[in-house]
Amino acid sequence: MGLRATVYGGAGRIGGNKILLEEGGRVFLDFGVDFSARNAYFSMFLRPRSFSLVEDYVLTGVIPALKGLYGEETAPTYLHSKTPFADAVIISHAHLDHYGHAGLLRPDIPVYMGEGTKVLLEAREEVRPNRNESLFEEDSEREIHVFRTGDVFEAAGMKFKPVHVDHSVPASYGLIVEAGSGVLAYTGDIRAHGPRKDMTQDFVEACVKEGVETLVVEGTRIDETENRSEDDVRAGMNAVVGKAGDRLVSVVVGMMDFDRLRTVLQVAEDNDRLPAISLHHAHILNKLGGANLRIKVPSMRDDKILVYLERRGSGTYAKSDYQKWMAALAESSPTVKEEEVRTNQSKYIMVLSKSEDIIDLASIKPAAGSPFILSTSEPHSEEQVIEMDKIKNWVELLQLRYHHIHSSGHASGTHIIKTIKQIQPRQVIPVHTEHPEVFAKLLECEKTKVLIPRSGEPLEIF
Ligand SMILES: [Zn+2]
Repeated sequence: MGLRATVYGGAGRIGGNKILLEEGGRVFLDFGVDFSARNAYFSMFLRPRSFSLVEDYVLTGVIPALKGLYGEETAPTYLHSKTPFADAVIISHAHLDHYGHAGLLRPDIPVYMGEGTKVLLEAREEVRPNRNESLFEEDSEREIHVFRTGDVFEAAGMKFKPVHVDHSVPASYGLIVEAGSGVLAYTGDIRAHGPRKDMTQDFVEACVKEGVETLVVEGTRIDETENRSEDDVRAGMNAVVGKAGDRLVSVVVGMMDFDRLRTVLQVAEDNDRLPAISLHHAHILNKLGGANLRIKVPSMRDDKILVYLERRGSGTYAKSDYQKWMAALAESSPTVKEEEVRTNQSKYIMVLSKSEDIIDLASIKPAAGSPFILSTSEPHSEEQVIEMDKIKNWVELLQLRYHHIHSSGHASGTHIIKTIKQIQPRQVIPVHTEHPEVFAKLLECEKTKVLIPRSGEPLEIF
């Protein structure tokens, strides 16, 4: 049998990638949350029931009905099986729309991920526990294997070569898959305009070298040409902060968006302000810095980065108000508190990890006209599914000035097509896009064929 690919998530959708490769054995590339499918039936207040999690998700089409794929406690009996459905699941990077449902898988299906991805997922889990869908349950027998660029591993008779790519979360990977019948590659999520665009180029070159014939390619922004870079973000923020004068500056940066955090730290330095970062950001910096990874992490030890110790619980900074990881951070890092920021507004840039933290500004009382910069770039992750109208009301109430300054984690259509032309695969399968048909239009004059995936329908690859 040749290689067959079935896109169970990410076909005509942004995110929720679940791509099954079959050739004798079976491997899933990513097992993420499709937010649009999930939000059609569920919300904060209408949740799947913990005792029938898989059943409720399968019923609503949020995850595919495949026998032997899920842990059996919450799956309906017709999906139980003696043998596991898949031999392995490989996670490309630490975004929920790529890994978020992997915790539902049978514990005897091994999960592979980048070394840095594991650090990030564990850190995230510590601060925002994923109660029912955890990948790291303490007593679980689940095997988690980690990889780095340069490693080669085998699963289901196929050889996998992960290669780093640039995206809005560190430790993002593309994968080259050597199957018996041919070579396929999967981009994961990529950009070619980020601070580490050289890594995306490494992946492209590896694809050329390995003679990739089929490319499963992301197309989040296939219909866009704009390419604002991280440097543009820095310039945009500098323009705003430069005019802020005595006012406080606040910036919202996604907890996992390490590159953006670094940009904000740079902007603080450019403007002689001190960054007062959220406990969440500090936690991620600490974990990444503490692991032996090939990632340069800014140090919090030299007092140039302060941790904003927010008031919680009783509001009196009592130790019992803080979760364990927060208390540990507060003890080991230089911190700054509300009153200091309130009285010296021009000295600081507040870095919030989510827009909802705007409520903390209510007691800091920023001077009228203080800039509030939303700098989140991934509208597909759960933490950023926010109720924007409420945030705007708060901005108005606190007399702040709203700005949106960001650069996408995804390559523009122009770059995606350039990448395809460099790799010259025989065929591409567009995923993670609402406009797969645009690929066909843009590649009309090329030799590369476009296979438009339909959810759950197998494509014969080789
Ligand atoms: Zn992503």
